[in-house]
Amino acid sequence: MYKATLIPGDGIGPEVISAATSVIEAAGVDIKWDEKQVGQAAMAKYNNPLPEDTINSIEINRIALKGPTTTEIGKGFRSANISLRQRLNLYANIRPIKTIEGAKTKYRDVDLVIFRENTEDLYMGIEHMIGKDAAESIKIITREASERIASMAFSYAVKEKRKKVTCAHKANIMKLSDGLFLSSVRSVAGKFPDIEYEEVIADGLFMNMVMNPQDYDVLVLPNLYGDLLSEMSAGLVGGLGVVPGVNIGVEAAVFEPTHGTALDIAGQGIANPTAAILCGVMLLRHLGEKDAAERIYNSVSRVIKNGKHVTRDLGGTASTLDMTKAIIDSLPGS
Ligand code: NAD
Repeated sequence: MYKATLIPGDGIGPEVISAATSVIEAAGVDIKWDEKQVGQAAMAKYNNPLPEDTINSIEINRIALKGPTTTEIGKGFRSANISLRQRLNLYANIRPIKTIEGAKTKYRDVDLVIFRENTEDLYMGIEHMIGKDAAESIKIITREASERIASMAFSYAVKEKRKKVTCAHKANIMKLSDGLFLSSVRSVAGKFPDIEYEEVIADGLFMNMVMNPQDYDVLVLPNLYGDLLSEMSAGLVGGLGVVPGVNIGVEAAVFEPTHGTALDIAGQGIANPTAAILCGVMLLRHLGEKDAAERIYNSVSRVIKNGKHVTRDLGGTASTLDMTKAIIDSLPGS
């Protein structure tokens, strides 16, 4: 039996996370979940968006499945997600963006993986007012953090038999900060002569990504551009409801969907559980449970392709529970 931390999160989080745990259970993998809180749920219970108890649990289990958590815009407590990544040194955010046949989208055959640096850049939150009418936000880029995200992206490319790594930057404008990111990635690229390496200016990448997403394979970006690209790329394969992700470091891995708390549909039982279930697939692969992972992935694909039991965002009328049940029923041996 495995042990992992479970963070249901806010909004639609508990609905989609319970879908993921029930599919994992139905696939026959025994995980003892240690349920903890982050975000608004933690504020309500502990008056702290990121309780030490939650951090301790992830440090012990080294694996967590997490739902989205609320961050107020322009006020309120600091993003618990960002604090969590920094506390546990989850230095990479990985998002596989892959076409699922049957999901409503303008593109076919998209299959790319985004490696986003997760601990620094403008997201360190070092900002202050200068008087009443000006604000300053400080962008930090270090060689160490840039090289380790690049190493992870290239090592992944080798392990998964990918062909190309693309590094995106704005070193034409931010010559020192993005320049350091670029030169760090370039130096790592030199150690992987069998992987094709290309450099693109981030705005050009965004344009080409919506025209020719099939041009890309593995991408490595600093935090801010990586965040924007991950969200945009979800739109290439069916939207936020179908894209999983992981925040990972040396000591721990926190699997969480790309989407947020979706307060507009929370509590209605209509959220798409796919992203959370595919986070479960990533978690199982991380544990080495490859057979169960593939069975679940194939079952999700079958249900989406079939189209009869999919949620509204995928063009259907199914509830979260209906879609989850269809995925469980479609597992081999069910
Ligand atoms: P959102 O992802 O919550 O919602 C954007 C749109 O996508 C909404 O219309 C929503 O209904 C839809 N959507 C999202 N997930 C869906 C799903 N599974 N099924 C069907 N439809 C879905 O983005 P937002 O409105 O920008 O953010 C809301 C809150 O979530 C904010 O507080 C934000 O900070 C937080 N957030 C948290 C995380 C995280 O914890 N990892 C990530 C992103 C946003």
